Amino acid sequence: MPFASLGLPAPLLRGVRAAGYQTPTPVQQRAIPLVLEGGDVVAAAQTGSGKTAAFVLPILARLLDRPHALRSLVLAPTRELAAQIETAARDLARFTKLKVGVVHGGVNIGPQERMLRGEGVDMLVATPGRLLDLHGRQSVALDDVEVLVLDEADRMVDMGFAPDLKRILRLLPDDRQTLMFSATMPPALNDVARDALHDPVRVDLSTPTRTVAGITQAVYPVSRALKTDLLDVLLRRTDIGGVIVFARTKRGADRLARQLEKRGHNVAALHGDRTQSQRERALRDLKRGRVQLLVATDIASRGIDVEDLTHVINYDVPMAPEDYVHRIGRTGRAEATGDAFTLVSPEEERDLKAIERFIGHTIVHVTIPDFDYKRRPAPEERGHGRGHGRERDRDHGRAEKPRGSVTRPAAAEPAEPSHGRRPRRDAPGGRGRRR
Ligand code: AMP
Repeated sequence: MPFASLGLPAPLLRGVRAAGYQTPTPVQQRAIPLVLEGGDVVAAAQTGSGKTAAFVLPILARLLDRPHALRSLVLAPTRELAAQIETAARDLARFTKLKVGVVHGGVNIGPQERMLRGEGVDMLVATPGRLLDLHGRQSVALDDVEVLVLDEADRMVDMGFAPDLKRILRLLPDDRQTLMFSATMPPALNDVARDALHDPVRVDLSTPTRTVAGITQAVYPVSRALKTDLLDVLLRRTDIGGVIVFARTKRGADRLARQLEKRGHNVAALHGDRTQSQRERALRDLKRGRVQLLVATDIASRGIDVEDLTHVINYDVPMAPEDYVHRIGRTGRAEATGDAFTLVSPEEERDLKAIERFIGHTIVHVTIPDFDYKRRPAPEERGHGRGHGRERDRDHGRAEKPRGSVTRPAAAEPAEPSHGRRPRRDAPGGRGRRR
């Protein structure tokens, strides 16, 4: 899809060309038309995805009709990010009459006041504290602001800017358009978002990393106790053809299969305690579409060759990084596309880091905007996260494969084939890193 088909005016398309952008990134393809429509948007999108141009271009398009008034305000957590946004916006606006300015702390306020009072700007990029200082000194008027962007909003509240943000919101016209970019939704941000946004469209613009042809990878951070809830949401939302969900232990796989069944999913479990014929039946059922998903352990996964798997979901983070590569190799076979999702609880972050080191790049972290990460888990999952140590320990003791053992099956699993099989692609050397 070319930039020209996104509905942007000619001077901005010239700016895009001059910036050296050939085709819009996926985030730009989705966000630009959405922002041009004029409604409020909440988007999860990572730095590096092209998100700056994704909001700057449609905003500049809107400002072209009436330059020389401060009609758009972009708030960013740090001066580095603010300066970066200003540079990108200036670049993209270079064939227009629009002016872009930046104000942030840590430098003399005088030149910023002169810039604002002098020729003025159409788009102001600011850190919240300095903007309020300037407003307090009556160096900036915000009455004409039509579009507000809260960039890296979660970082802004993390850094303690929530009260400043609320104060700024009170200074802006109510009938503005607001765009909020945030990788996560901490409670303090929810509070700000309620004040800032009006009936927003929520979009997940995070583009999972494509490390190997056909497989996109994403990490979903979530507490252990809410993993089944989140998995349930993923299974319902995603365009699911055939899925394998990996659990670390046999007991874990059985328990998860039961829980998913209770929630109405058509499930079969596949692990080393199953007889060969049970395993074959489970696989056949998946291939024929009689079951939607298999819950499997690592050992059971070796040698599985199921065509048309659309997703591999790691319910548990594999302890051995090599297992991650084996697991995600189940999807995207024969150049079909497939997605590999990993649910990661805080306790598993270390294992995830080891995987990222092993595959040579980080994996995009994605949050589901309307999932309540603070909810009480359903009764069946309670205890899975807390006060559950004994069972977890027992489970771990019975894990089908000890940490680090990559190619040898556990003694109890003599029938498992395929351990000589290498993952089809080499993950290390990782192409395309994004976070
Ligand atoms: P961002 O995610 O906005 O920080 O952008 C990351 C980098 O990608 C920046 O260096 C941009 O200049 C660059 N970039 C943004 N959009 C495109 C595009 N469509 N094609 C090539 N590079 C781009």
